[in-house]
Amino acid sequence: MDTALAQLAHRRRTLPELLEIQRLHSSLTSLASDLVGADTVVSDLEREQRRAENDLEPVRERLSRNQHRVADGTIADPRALNSMIEEIDHLKRRIDNLEDAELEVMEQLETATEGRDRLRMEAAEIDSQLGVLSAKRDRQLRELELEMADRQTVREGIVPLLPGPLVTLYDKIGGTHAGIGAAELRARRCTGCRLELNSADLRAFAAAPPDEVLRCEECGRILVRTPESGL
Ligand SMILES: [Zn+2]
Repeated sequence: MDTALAQLAHRRRTLPELLEIQRLHSSLTSLASDLVGADTVVSDLEREQRRAENDLEPVRERLSRNQHRVADGTIADPRALNSMIEEIDHLKRRIDNLEDAELEVMEQLETATEGRDRLRMEAAEIDSQLGVLSAKRDRQLRELELEMADRQTVREGIVPLLPGPLVTLYDKIGGTHAGIGAAELRARRCTGCRLELNSADLRAFAAAPPDEVLRCEECGRILVRTPESGL
């Protein structure tokens, strides 16, 4: 029962989901820091685009005002009209330059937004994988705990049936051997420490009465005899 309990405890500590969950958590942490960077780039570019748009607005208004004045024929002086037309050309070139710069920012913004959205999708995907894995882990932990509780109940039923001093000895040895104070003697070997019996022990063990408590020379565990012990 103690061996079974130790195996169940080992399975509980080494569920493959635990490692996978840890791996996904660290991916999520590094994604989160990438996302902070990507969000900053996007908001910087958005601000830059607003600024470009603000720069354009007064120039467009001035162009439109000038074009109206030329069109409605209110400028009588030919020199004033000439310089107005020159200014219109200048404003158009200025608008072209500002629009080119804005377009460039918009293209950068589009690329940055796509990159940021990709990171968000990746993070959401990992989140959902984590949800599935955590549920799977919890289900297995519950099953293992139920199984361990069953074994524990069986163990508690066995202990009162054994001689008190033997249980005390078993528990004492178990204190230094992960809770397991006995090992099966199989094919003349202690299955606790793998030591093979020497010929003197072999003779002594073979001659020992069935109710004598045998101990391993090497690890001190109580040796349990079975038909496969090789005695
Ligand atoms: Zn041993």
